[in-house]
Amino acid sequence: MIKHLAILGVGLIGSSLALALRETGHVQRVSGFGRNRRNLERGVELGVLDDFSLDLGEVVSDADMVLVAVPLGAMAELFAHMAPLLPDRAVITDVGSAKGSVVNDARNGLGDHFARFVAGHPIAGTERSGVEAGFATLFQQRKVILTPTGETETQAVDRVRDMWLACGAGVELMAVEHHDQVLAATSHLPHMLAFSLVSHLSKMSDQDEIFDYAAGGFRDFTRIASSDPVMWRDICIANRDALIDLIEGYQQELTLVADAIRRQDPDALQELFTDAKHTRDQLRNL
Ligand code: NAP
Repeated sequence: MIKHLAILGVGLIGSSLALALRETGHVQRVSGFGRNRRNLERGVELGVLDDFSLDLGEVVSDADMVLVAVPLGAMAELFAHMAPLLPDRAVITDVGSAKGSVVNDARNGLGDHFARFVAGHPIAGTERSGVEAGFATLFQQRKVILTPTGETETQAVDRVRDMWLACGAGVELMAVEHHDQVLAATSHLPHMLAFSLVSHLSKMSDQDEIFDYAAGGFRDFTRIASSDPVMWRDICIANRDALIDLIEGYQQELTLVADAIRRQDPDALQELFTDAKHTRDQLRNL
């Protein structure tokens, strides 16, 4: 049971977590912090928050669990700002989509509180943002990856694991670097492809006609290009090394496809598509 949960950044992920914990009775009080009063007022109206403040100290000073759910680029400043305001017993966790940068920022900013910081990433989301986008079932039967370091207190890891289990998620532990490589492949690269495809088509002279004829395949492939630009700007920069390697590998794969088409090589094309279909068909979790 969490007595007082402080949510810093009450958007899709923060509000969904609050709603899920409320539904299961796993939290007594939820307070919100952000920059935008209207968003936080809406959080109270929607039953996500009990109260809020634009003053960070008022929100965290009595919390036993602090969830950092802002874009990655805003985390360093927030960790440094909150460190002197945190009670000793508080467990701090985050939901950022890349973990190396967050762990560095937390280590640099949190001081002695770093031992009770548990980096985390729910593998769940939508292309929508803000408190209105949150819903209680977002994490049900989804995975949450925690990436504690050798310095992280076991009790803090247990508390964060229990919080996510209460939301219906499964929890796995992973090394920070491994997390960033895996997520670069399965989440960050696909977002780059969707953003760049829509951007490429939007620059074509007959773009209006092209988009008029877009159907299911285009919709499925590009839904994630509606995701928040600030969030994705920060993810790319935070996970740049793993992502650049993957983008370059993918560019080579596209060149192979283009060469096979140029050569009018039916065997090469069919083999490539058959292998990809076989792999995709095996993915039972999707
Ligand atoms: P979101 O809906 O845009 O919510 C983020 C909230 O953070 C906003 O409501 C904003 O509230 C607040 N915020 C933004 N910049 C801030 C700053 N500089 N200082 C303080 N508050 C700030 O985003 P989200 O989708 O919940 O994502 C939050 C985190 O979860 C990100 O780190 C992201 O990488 C991670 N994540 C997202 C997904 C996904 O699918 N969306 C999935 C897994 C993990 P105010 O305007 O009131 O400040």
